[in-house]
Amino acid sequence: MNLILMGAPGAGKGTQSAKISAKYNIPAVSTGDMLRAAVKAETELGKSAKSYMDAGLLVPDEVVVGIVKDHLSTEACKNGFILDGFPRTIPQAEALEAMGVKIDVVLSIEVPDEKIIKRMSGRRVCHCGASYHVEYIRPKVDGICDKCGEKLYIRDDDCEETVANRLKTYHAQTEPLKDFYAERGILACVEGQEEVADTTALVFEALDKFNA
Ligand code: AMP
Repeated sequence: MNLILMGAPGAGKGTQSAKISAKYNIPAVSTGDMLRAAVKAETELGKSAKSYMDAGLLVPDEVVVGIVKDHLSTEACKNGFILDGFPRTIPQAEALEAMGVKIDVVLSIEVPDEKIIKRMSGRRVCHCGASYHVEYIRPKVDGICDKCGEKLYIRDDDCEETVANRLKTYHAQTEPLKDFYAERGILACVEGQEEVADTTALVFEALDKFNA
């Protein structure tokens, strides 16, 4: 199954993507994770992406399209994949079509902005990729990752001003993709729930219909 996961920043794409990856045995391809890794490694790509990311803006299409193209052509993606955070603009979606990649389903996780803002101010992440929340997904020991024992931190782009910008960017540039994929008959929407497990149940229900 080739899947695109959509949703505002903080809607729970990363969390659900890990659940989907485990159930359907397909890898998650997160452009946000790839860009953060490039920033951390201080590569040329990372250096040019950082200022956009810190401002809550999108990294230019040609940069992101290039990294996705390289990744989708790897062996790991040959039996399917989850695109988490890509495409985020109509030109990116068109570039994906131009690559000849067939998408089976586009799943959008819908969460109102007020909830997103509350969620993101409590988000804590780990360098290993794990993500927690001070209220909803607490680690066993405060401030420490359950998986690797490292200290959790707040992502640079989770500060309030950047979150507001990221939401604005999402509504202006990414949300129009819902119509783009609805026209192609492959859009499914689920409402994000308070409990992660409840959202996961809705996500699996929606995906099973497309995967039948
Ligand atoms: P994410 O972790 O998916 O929320 O991504 C974090 C940041 O990386 C975004 O706010 C953007 O600055 C950048 N980014 C991730 N994916 C894309 C994309 N498909 N197009 C442009 N910028 C992206």
